[in-house]
Amino acid sequence: MSSIIKSPWVIHYDGSSCNGCDIEVLAALTPRFDVERFGIINTGNPKHADIFLITGSINEQNISIVKNIYEQMPNPKIVIAVGVCAATGGIFRECYNVQGGVGEVIPVDVYVPGCAVRPEAIIDGVVKGLGILQKKQEEWSKQA
Ligand code: SF4
Repeated sequence: MSSIIKSPWVIHYDGSSCNGCDIEVLAALTPRFDVERFGIINTGNPKHADIFLITGSINEQNISIVKNIYEQMPNPKIVIAVGVCAATGGIFRECYNVQGGVGEVIPVDVYVPGCAVRPEAIIDGVVKGLGILQKKQEEWSKQA
């Protein structure tokens, strides 16, 4: 990753989880780990977001919400699945209403492993995602 065209904005959504990974996402955003030092801003509006950071598994109730957030985000965009639950369904995988990981519903660009995921790993995953976002932005600007 050589440079970033703009400060990326992140939207975070918690699927079906134990909230362990969400607490680590909060730690990554707040002053101790301070992901904002990379110019990354947390937003609640999908229309402003470049990065969809999702924790927890997909179930019958949140599947439409996840799709809806993803579809509202402008292109180019990336999806980062944080934790084992977001990757495969994790400990909730055998629950009656769980469909599996995020990749069952929307395309995932980066998987961040762990249970719970360490804030350093989340930041590492976001930085990897920025490289992918930049490539997508370059391809997108060629098409425009
Ligand atoms: S990966 Fe582990 S810590 Fe994260 S939501 Fe799932 S069970 Fe909780």
